Amino acid sequence: MNTQDLFGQGTPPSESVTFAPTRKAGLERLEKFLSRTGHHYERNRNYDFGPEQRSNISVLSPWIRHRIITEQEVLTQTLARQSPSAAEKFVQEVFWRGYFKGWLEQHPSVWLSYKRDLVQKLDALEANNFLNAEYQTAIEGRTGIDCFDQWARELVETGYLHNHTRMWFASIWVFTLGLPWQLGADFFMQHLLDGDPASNTCSWRWVSGLHTKGKSYLARASNIAKFTDGRFNPVGQLSPTAVPLVEDFDHPLLPIPEADALPEAAFLLLVTPEDCQASALWAENAAAVLALPTPEQERQSIRVQAFKTGALQDSISDLNGTLLCADWVTQITEVAREANVKHIVTAYTPIGPSADQLATAAPSLTEAGLTLHRVRRPYDTLTWPHANKGFFKVKKQIPKILQGLGLAP
Ligand SMILES: Cc1cc2nc3c(=O)[nH]c(=O)nc-3n(C[C@H](O)[C@H](O)[C@H](O)COP(=O)(O)OP(=O)(O)OC[C@H]3O[C@@H](n4cnc5c(N)ncnc54)[C@H](O)[C@@H]3O)c2cc1C
Repeated sequence: MNTQDLFGQGTPPSESVTFAPTRKAGLERLEKFLSRTGHHYERNRNYDFGPEQRSNISVLSPWIRHRIITEQEVLTQTLARQSPSAAEKFVQEVFWRGYFKGWLEQHPSVWLSYKRDLVQKLDALEANNFLNAEYQTAIEGRTGIDCFDQWARELVETGYLHNHTRMWFASIWVFTLGLPWQLGADFFMQHLLDGDPASNTCSWRWVSGLHTKGKSYLARASNIAKFTDGRFNPVGQLSPTAVPLVEDFDHPLLPIPEADALPEAAFLLLVTPEDCQASALWAENAAAVLALPTPEQERQSIRVQAFKTGALQDSISDLNGTLLCADWVTQITEVAREANVKHIVTAYTPIGPSADQLATAAPSLTEAGLTLHRVRRPYDTLTWPHANKGFFKVKKQIPKILQGLGLAP
């Protein structure tokens, strides 16, 4: 298939996306892409035509990941423009995110072991000059595998990679270059504007053969040549096999932690990078609004840090809120005292840096007489329980979930 078959016009139209960390920019991108969420997306989504030609995919992930715009909003608008059958593929892809969020929430040891192993792998880089040189060669795009090198630079320079490219990149990282998957996942988390503990960790594990046990993903030159529309053809440069990685223990399935109801008493609304739209949801009843970036941001690129901080700033800009970048306990207790409230409300923080931060802060907040309420969105409440095995279980439930959200026709 060539681009003529894809777009009927010879070449795909030029369309690059600028990632401004504002709700306005996210909504504009959504509006622009809505007419393509039907069969156009289904037919063309697997092609990576390069950063200047993004008309075949939504590129909404940086906004969705921080809930600057929510999955529910994306689905609502999509289904207002497309029939459920035309939009089926796009709707399913949106649900992949909820699947990974729900799956990790029920397998917390995956996140804990990733973080623990990453520290070990980073230490190993310090101790092993050869490994360190291999790693630097990969992240600086100097491996000699043209496509991989270009993607490494594209990731650093733009903060984004196409989904298919992420799969090829991760596969080459693990099976051709023989580097630890945790270091690759960390490289992505440092630079992706949509870097997400669940989608990223689970996807790297999926490519490596750890998520669906024994089933890994092999990047093939012919597949890359086809779906980059001939921009790359790394024939003879890639590993011909992808022997799945193995772990020596099973990650147990745990119940989804309880969420809380909104308190009746006055509260301080805490907005985190996990859900910037929490400000719109609950601000009306809040005595004060406080936005806090996570300290984890320090490990992330300047571009990613600026996106997260900009998104938080944007989310509270009309609310007379405060954005502070310091110790969470001190900030929360001080702002709560000034607002004279004993309750803190935040959108439920799924597994990741914000949840880690809140878990650490919780005992001190209790000691200060503050009660934390983590309120979960209906989208998550309806989706997560089905995310305890493979994606198929969630996929089957999509019509019911949409019905529960009032989005079914
Ligand atoms: C190794 C690897 C790492 C990844 N890391 C991340 C990550 O850190 N954060 C992240 O949001 N996605 C991640 N993904 C999933 C996927 O690549 C991106 O969500 C997608 O490329 C975003 O581009 P888009 O907005 O144009 O997606 P579209 O194809 O337009 O899809 C619309 C939306 O659906 C969701 N979505 C689509 N595909 C997936 C998927 N496979 N998994 C999860 N959600 C999906 C995203 O929110 C996306 O914005 C990763 C995939 C791989 C293979």
